[in-house]
Amino acid sequence: MKISQYVYFIEKKNKVLCFSTLYNEVALISLNAYKTIKKSLDEFKDKFTNVYSSLVANKIIIEDEVNEIDIIRCQNKSETFYSRNFDLTLLPSLDCNLRCWYCYEDHVRNSRMGQDVQDNIVKLIRNKIEKKEMDGLSLNFYGGEPLLDFNDIAYPVSIALKSLCEEARIPFKTFFITNSTLIDDAMIDKLAELNVSFQITLDGYKEKHNKIRFRKSNQEGTYQHIIDTIHKITSRIENVFVNIRINYDEQTLQNIDGLLEDLSGIDRSKVNIHFERVWQTDTIPNNEVLKNAIHLFMVNGFKTTYINWHPRGFACKAECLNQVIISYDGRVYKCTGRNFTEEHCDGILDDDGNIQWKAGRLERRLAKATFENPMCLACKMLPLCMGPCSQKQIDVGPDHLRQVCSKNVLEMQMNDYIEYVCNNMLLSNQSKEYK
Ligand code: SF4
Ligand code: SF4
Repeated sequence: MKISQYVYFIEKKNKVLCFSTLYNEVALISLNAYKTIKKSLDEFKDKFTNVYSSLVANKIIIEDEVNEIDIIRCQNKSETFYSRNFDLTLLPSLDCNLRCWYCYEDHVRNSRMGQDVQDNIVKLIRNKIEKKEMDGLSLNFYGGEPLLDFNDIAYPVSIALKSLCEEARIPFKTFFITNSTLIDDAMIDKLAELNVSFQITLDGYKEKHNKIRFRKSNQEGTYQHIIDTIHKITSRIENVFVNIRINYDEQTLQNIDGLLEDLSGIDRSKVNIHFERVWQTDTIPNNEVLKNAIHLFMVNGFKTTYINWHPRGFACKAECLNQVIISYDGRVYKCTGRNFTEEHCDGILDDDGNIQWKAGRLERRLAKATFENPMCLACKMLPLCMGPCSQKQIDVGPDHLRQVCSKNVLEMQMNDYIEYVCNNMLLSNQSKEYK
């Protein structure tokens, strides 16, 4: 038997946290047990028989024959090439009713998805169902602001695709990445029909948020509307989930306790608080303000996430064969993280509901797994990270992967990060103490 290569051991006073990034398991053992593990696994087995059995059960100790990289490779192949869930992202418009200074997109004024493209999307899904190419549809909306002209675009398309899925008896769900400022009571009723979830962004507490996210038409701040909308959505839509993304810079998190107060009374099982640095601002190593903000939400019963690390089979869904993005004009893309321009366009949806890929584009992105490089193959975070995403690798090329390693943007010591993950799991009762 051997210790899994994907386990972090973090000493905390007389206890040691064991965290497996491959199996997402946490265990707490005594310092004595840990010291014995380091000395000899056989001695550990003799002296701490029960603890040993428990660590075997949760795969912190594994059989010598197991090659864990092979497990990761198989999982990656299965999820990127054999997933039968079709992940379709639609961009109903590349226009937006707000103008946040940091948005990377070139907005296209008054752009809207026409009836022809909507019809072709319905044909695409009908074709895929007829050819038995999908067992489920995840329909995502992004933009620009995807709820612009909701009643003429996102809603009718969703209803048409939902009905095709119902006929075929396959699961259907929607996910809106929205600023939420256009959501009103009537829209909530319609969204509730769509097995819906959301990502809604805040830029900190009221004052800071309103300086960044205000309506183009009258400069009015959007904070209160967003807070009210999150409350309404979570209380009125059954089984909804809202990822509240907090875009932060040096000042955003200063008065964040005000946001906590504004979210009091919310059903915590329906929300997640995600912290994401505004990408144009500099990371701060050992960012105490960030750590305190995460801690504050966590001890108040919120599930919190920070940095894009979680158990998964791929770095980004752009690396999955059964995933596409279709823009308002019928152009097809794989990546939502770059401008939707001809340079990044990967194909076109034709009038028969088929995607015509540009030569070589899919292969360039999918041929090689994102972690098949010496840097990632030696990294303990690999199962939660899976390497720099395909787009970053295309951008920098194979010789400069260190520039785009996810650890570069981690704003805390790795030990602090592991402890935060373990505390999150402790709160959701996923960890065990072995004595
Ligand atoms: S930039 Fe990378 S992570 Fe972001 S959507 Fe594109 S491929 Fe995915
Ligand atoms: S990108 Fe960096 S953190 Fe991610 S697996 Fe590779 S080396 Fe590890």
